[in-house]
Amino acid sequence: MVGRHHDSSVADFAVGLWITERRVMRKLVIDCETSPNLAYIWGLWNQNVGLNQIEKTGSVISFAAKWHGSKKVMFYSDHHNGHEEMVQAAHELLSAADALIHYNGKAFDVKHLQREFLLAELPPASPHVDIDLLRTVRSQFKFPSNKLTHVSEALGIGKKTPHTGFDLWRDCMMGDDKAWALMKKYNIQDVRLTEELYDRLLPWIPNHPNVGVFDEIPDACPKCGKGPMISNGTRRSKTMVYRRLNCRACGSWARSRVAEPVARPDYI
Ligand SMILES: [Zn+2]
Repeated sequence: MVGRHHDSSVADFAVGLWITERRVMRKLVIDCETSPNLAYIWGLWNQNVGLNQIEKTGSVISFAAKWHGSKKVMFYSDHHNGHEEMVQAAHELLSAADALIHYNGKAFDVKHLQREFLLAELPPASPHVDIDLLRTVRSQFKFPSNKLTHVSEALGIGKKTPHTGFDLWRDCMMGDDKAWALMKKYNIQDVRLTEELYDRLLPWIPNHPNVGVFDEIPDACPKCGKGPMISNGTRRSKTMVYRRLNCRACGSWARSRVAEPVARPDYI
């Protein structure tokens, strides 16, 4: 086993991610759960809550994560591990990842985690690329709802674990073991759905990091890392002509990096 992070205690990335001695892109699927802010309020309708009314600010209470392609789902929580250990584990995992796969993680999960890192006086985790599937769903399709539960059901991938709504969060805040068992199940199911959705959406994901850069396979599909890439027509930009390629494994479209040597007009 070789790699930059093979000595990490929690970053159990090695399973299924290394093919002999060759490195592959490490994609971490991740989903966080957070607690609400706890505040004193004077009423229920149209409340404008001042900062000095907040008794306790919300925080990350748990996260589930898995390395894309490996079976094991990792779960850490305030309840099961303690806050400090959970934050440390998230920091190690993010640092070991080349890319994060999430649903709205760019605006939510990653920012929440980074706030926790800052509060814990940890340095920034090493840089990663975000593959935010909500952005793909929003930019590529028109679903009646962009919620993970709707999109997953519409695609027949599966359902989110049903829960008791806000009661579940309140019971977890009270330290209820049963509630935490359900939270764990819910959090893990979200990560599984996110991974399956990623596999389904892969050829549609705009600006997906080029797997070839990480895997160092020059002729593989830039998205799935497999192939073969079949030459299929040409793609013309305003000034250049490129060979257009289609992945037989995942259906992604790509183009040659270098333009074709074709006769072009002298003027642009
Ligand atoms: Zn492909």
